[in-house]
Formats: sequence, C-alpha cells, structure tokens
Amino acid sequence: MREPIIAIDGPSGAGKSTLSKLLAAEFGYLNLDTGAMYRTVALAATRQGVATDDGAALARLCAEISITFQRDGGGERVLLDGADVTTAIRTPQISQLTAVVAACPEVRAAMTAQQRKIAAAGGVVLEGRDIGTAVFPDAEVKFFLSASAAERGRRRYNELRDKGVAVDLAQTVREIEERDAADSARTHAPLVQAADAMVIDSSFLDIDAVLQVMVSEVERWRAHCDTAAPSS
Ligand code: C5P
Repeated sequence: MREPIIAIDGPSGAGKSTLSKLLAAEFGYLNLDTGAMYRTVALAATRQGVATDDGAALARLCAEISITFQRDGGGERVLLDGADVTTAIRTPQISQLTAVVAACPEVRAAMTAQQRKIAAAGGVVLEGRDIGTAVFPDAEVKFFLSASAAERGRRRYNELRDKGVAVDLAQTVREIEERDAADSARTHAPLVQAADAMVIDSSFLDIDAVLQVMVSEVERWRAHCDTAAPSS
C-alpha cells in the first residue's frame, strides 16, 4: 500500500511543527518542516548580503546552498551547508525577513522543487503554508490548523521565553499578525485554506486532542485505501 502525503498548513504559531512531528512519529513517516527551509534561505541571504528583493540573486543563492535536516534524539537539527543553524533561524528578525524572502517567486520555485523531490514517494508529513494548495494539491490527507492570533502569540511568546530569548508578549502578537498578513497577501502561493482540507481550530484544544483528530483522519484514509486496493 502506498503511504500518504500529508499536508499541514496554517498560520504561524498554530502548532503545526509540534503536531507534524508527533503525527509523523505515530506512523513512522518522514517529517518535513518547510518553514525551516525558507528560514534558512533568509539566514543565508543575510549572511551573504543578498538583497531580499533581488529575485535573480536569491535564485542563485538557493541553487548554491544546501539545506539538510539531521535527527537528534527526539528533535531535529537544521543544517546550512553542513553547519548547524537550528537556533539562528528562529530569531524574531529572521522570522520577519523570512516572510519577505518567501514572497519571492524564484525562492518558492526552488523550495517547492526540493520539497516535491523529498516527499514524492509518500509516507511524509509536510508542514507549511502552501503544501495542500501549491506544493502537493493532490496530497492524500490535508489539514488546515488555525488558532486565534492572541493564542498563537501567547504560545510563541512562551516558546521563545523558555529558550531564553527576551521577548514582549504584545510585540510577539503584533509580529504574528504582521507575518499572517504578509503570508496571506502575497501574490505567489499565499496562505489560503485548501477547499478540501480538514480545518482544525486549536484555540481551545490541547496538542493531544488535535493529534487524536489527525491520527483518526489518517487511519480513516489508510483503511479506505486498503478496501479500495484491488486484491491480488
Ligand atoms: O512555519 P514557520 O513560521 O517556520 O515559517 C516561517 C515563514 O516561512 C512563514 O512566515 C512564511 O513566510 C514562510 N513559509 C512559506 N511557505 C511554507 C512555509 C513557510 O512561505 N510552506
């Protein structure tokens, strides 16, 4: 039986990363954090002094750099040309810059091609903004995970504070709202809900409750697939 491509899209701070990892672990699938890929491009552009509005230079940059992931116990490290950038790509500055870089069509084309290559065989959970609409419009299972901006800001604030980053709650909520607006308003592959995605509002649900909904949906798909497959 072919294993599914699972898309988890939604705005910043909705819990996509956590749920994507847990869902992938549940079924033994690969987990692909596409936001980390865009973040790494933004970091590489900053380090190399590439202007975030120079499409041709960004395209060259995407062709030159290597973005890889390395399992690390329960976690995952992100590597740029072999060097660990897991923490460096998570600063508020890089978050804001990433939304700008990610609006560039050349960057989207390069990242989309890489994501399709990695996930084509199935058995993958991809989390991002445009997975179910642009990268894999035919993904077998699609989720759109959302939560109120206030709740997402609160979660992001706690996450950063726990990592020792000095942050302000109101400022964090504002940044989340700005990033939502930029991601939703861009011309190329904006953040929109796929018509056939299962929408889950996690404002009042904990991680376990959302995970259960997702696991059931994947199991339902797999059971249906088993029944639909011709017996040999
Ligand atoms: O998910 P995360 O917050 O790490 O994503 C960082 C940024 O990367 C988003 O705000 C968005 O601008 C961009 N992104 C994107 N398409 C994706 C994943 C992330 O444009 N599939």
